[in-house]
Amino acid sequence: MRTPTGDDVDGVLRGAIEPFGGIGQLFEFDVRIIESVACLLGYAAGMSAAEPSLFDKIVNLSKRRGIVFPSAEIYGGFRSTYDYGPVGVLMLRNVKDAWWRSMVQLRSDVVGLDASILSPPAVWTASGHLANFTDPLVDCRNCGTRHRQDKLDDPETCPSCGMSGQFTEPRQFNLMFKTQAGPVADEGAVAYLRPETAQGMFINFANVLNTSRKRPPFGIAQIGKSFRNEITPGNFVFRTREFEQMEMEFFVPPAESEQWYEYWCRERFQWYIDHGIAEDQLRLRPHDSDELSHYSSGTSDVEFMFPWGWDELEGIANRGSYDLDQHAEHSGQRLEYFDQANNERYVPHVIEPAAGATRTMMAFLMAAYDEEQVNDDTRTVLRLHHRIAPYKVAVLPLSKKPELAEPAKELLATIQPHWMTDYDETQAIGRRYRRQDEIGTPYCITFDFDSLEDKAVTVRERDSMEQVRLPIAEVVDWLAERLV
Ligand code: ATP
Repeated sequence: MRTPTGDDVDGVLRGAIEPFGGIGQLFEFDVRIIESVACLLGYAAGMSAAEPSLFDKIVNLSKRRGIVFPSAEIYGGFRSTYDYGPVGVLMLRNVKDAWWRSMVQLRSDVVGLDASILSPPAVWTASGHLANFTDPLVDCRNCGTRHRQDKLDDPETCPSCGMSGQFTEPRQFNLMFKTQAGPVADEGAVAYLRPETAQGMFINFANVLNTSRKRPPFGIAQIGKSFRNEITPGNFVFRTREFEQMEMEFFVPPAESEQWYEYWCRERFQWYIDHGIAEDQLRLRPHDSDELSHYSSGTSDVEFMFPWGWDELEGIANRGSYDLDQHAEHSGQRLEYFDQANNERYVPHVIEPAAGATRTMMAFLMAAYDEEQVNDDTRTVLRLHHRIAPYKVAVLPLSKKPELAEPAKELLATIQPHWMTDYDETQAIGRRYRRQDEIGTPYCITFDFDSLEDKAVTVRERDSMEQVRLPIAEVVDWLAERLV
């Protein structure tokens, strides 16, 4: 299937918004324009023009329910940057927490790290990013749009205007954001925003080895922001210039690297299934030999079936000793392990599972989105795994009169220490259920007039919509059994 690049969307958008006052007005009209552009591009195969695609529905829902907002919207937006709203920030934290839980908390062979975002050129010289972290950039002479040559379906044809043979010769464009640390703008002040979190783990290898009592095989994990000056950002939060990564470097004895590579491919693939993505929406794609970097003896991508086709969520790479060797050579420090039992000194090999938190959140949203017919109504529901769901519980008094609202708030206070809990006392109860369904809240608790008498509440489950009556005193234990 054809993969629309961000540029496809941005390029067409630029034309489409001109009557509205140019790029500055982009986000004011985003939902409407993106819907029509998506239809133009036809990237929801099989959908009629009248029916918005899944992609449009997710963009629309995100804006409407406070999941993701276009950044700097009151100033007309800032191209391909996004802010995570009150609901989205919870969901993004949950994605990161779920990763941290399985990669660090539940393991005794992985420790965490939080390294700096700013780093000196020496790090990026050693890692090879200054020389090689480039994408081939081509300009269309006809319409002036820029494209990443390696992501074009047809390297001769401009996806924005359709003209053939109008591209300039490709130029290698370095994706790192360069800045200056301190008030003097000389060469010594040059610093870079990290384009990946991984180098923080390599340059701290010796620090962690000396302080954590870990021995290979062991890993260092980190979650944090990374920055890439992408040529063609787009597809909503799929490819942005500022994004979050979840990466782990697993240091192993060289002879064990293949077995650990296979282990981490299996583990990481399973993680997405365990958190609610159906197996048939995922695949593990080993790289062809011509895709591999010269130091990698194996790389596989976990891919998700996005509306535009299979695309990467995470890469798992067997990187050999390349990174530690490079930093040892450039820093002059020994980055190796002395195995006393075998009286042997070696440079560990590295297996790296590298995932994107923001991109994974988008995949979870798409995999969970569902619409079903309930009586005469269409119910939109995010069938999110409870660990990923922004709120786990919502407390909904049947009436906002103090008679019900006050005891409902007392119940809320008993649940809040355990789970993120929403509280909503306005509108008809049916509409409040629908609002919670739309943001994937697994359990809604209704406090009604009978509750005052029988000291019980109604708990409604999101997916089945089944309701049970539970004594208030048992609510927390009942939820705890289900929200593990
Ligand atoms: P791509 O081929 O999509 O550019 P990559 O192979 O360069 O990605 P890695 O360097 O392996 O990506 O980064 C690991 C993960 O970080 C990716 O699988 C993806 O989930 C995430 N990621 C990378 N670049 C971006 C971006 N610009 N926006 C959002 N997430 C990103």
